[in-house]
Amino acid sequence: NPLLSIEGLKARVADKEILHGLDLVVRPGEVHAIMGPNGSGKSTLAQVLAGRETYEVTGGRVALDGEDLLGLGPEQRAAKGVFLAFQYPVEIPGVGNLYFLRTALNALRRSRGEEELDAMDFLALAKEKMKLVEMDPAFMSRSVNEGFSGGEKKRNEVLQMAVLEPRLAILDETDSGLDIDALRVVAGGVNALRSPDRAMIVITHYQRLLDYIVPDFVHVMAAGRIVKSGGRELALELEEKGYAELRRGGPAEV
Ligand code: ADP
Ligand code: MG
Ligand code: MG
Repeated sequence: NPLLSIEGLKARVADKEILHGLDLVVRPGEVHAIMGPNGSGKSTLAQVLAGRETYEVTGGRVALDGEDLLGLGPEQRAAKGVFLAFQYPVEIPGVGNLYFLRTALNALRRSRGEEELDAMDFLALAKEKMKLVEMDPAFMSRSVNEGFSGGEKKRNEVLQMAVLEPRLAILDETDSGLDIDALRVVAGGVNALRSPDRAMIVITHYQRLLDYIVPDFVHVMAAGRIVKSGGRELALELEEKGYAELRRGGPAEV
């Protein structure tokens, strides 16, 4: 049975329709890569799945485990195991990164009727998970976003995922390039978190990431739809031919 099932999803932001009828099925254990040119709606899809309020769904269905997802708020979706790494919009001096993460984990645990973790237990958990992303322990006490490099932000996202242990993880690679070390570490963390009952959607503009995170399926998005799907070879084909060629020759003219 699918973990995630999307049918004819339409969504708009600021009165502009961005997703024009998107279909996608993700089963437990699978890693799906979504590629596509800038502005094709990849991040919009991620935000819509996470339930971010700026995006208005205007059509279609999304089910998680066969149950409607679109009627749920962002916290309820998180409680059901949907994860989109949160980017802190601003630097928050004096508020530690780990404090933020513990708050998120405990909110999740409360929503599931589980006991909160105290500071000591959380620290032990966080230390273990930080090894996964080769994160410097000094990071623990750094203020939120204060001088985080692109690579550190990305590691932090994987740390969030490792701590929150979602069933469906959505990773939206920012267009800013990661250096090769950061890429390797991030991919290593992601690969370590692959499991038969967890699925991942990895959004990337570049095929490079997929040398490290080998997806089961690759989808190409263009103008708010998935216009082509295939195996990992599709990513290589795109690298070679580029998106323009795909749009000329593809089945769905966009
Ligand atoms: P991608 O992630 O594939 O680069 P996005 O989902 O970020 O694409 O953007 C798709 C389109 O939606 C773009 O044309 C972008 O300008 C527009 N868009 C996204 N977010 C907003 C927003 N908050 N307000 C207005 N337009 C937006
Ligand atoms: Mg973009
Ligand atoms: Mg984007």
